Amino acid sequence: MSVNVVNSATCTFCGCVCDDIELHAEGEKIVKAKNACSLGDAWFRNHTAERIYPDALIDGEPATVEAAIEAAAEHLYKADLPLVYGLSNITCEAQRESVALAELIGGVVDSHTSL
Ligand code: SF4
Repeated sequence: MSVNVVNSATCTFCGCVCDDIELHAEGEKIVKAKNACSLGDAWFRNHTAERIYPDALIDGEPATVEAAIEAAAEHLYKADLPLVYGLSNITCEAQRESVALAELIGGVVDSHTSL
């Protein structure tokens, strides 16, 4: 299989936004992320355009998006101190909506960088 090389790719994993990554892809799978740190390398190599997961999961089982939203709402409603966590790899608009949700439900926000 031929290797497609993309120069000057940007990594958005941790927030440093390194923009000198050289990606090597075989088909839809990234097989090498030259210049990326170990976090960025793992992030790139585990992301693919292939469709691996269903649109939603409930307790690890495939579900409709509507059912997953209902389940999430129920968990959030029952929570004493809801945590809105993650927020990396999503758009600014989605981050804005996540913070608004946390405010609405009286929760707290944390990002993956607290790891
Ligand atoms: S995870 Fe590594 S390669 Fe990616 S932006 Fe952060 S420091 Fe750069």
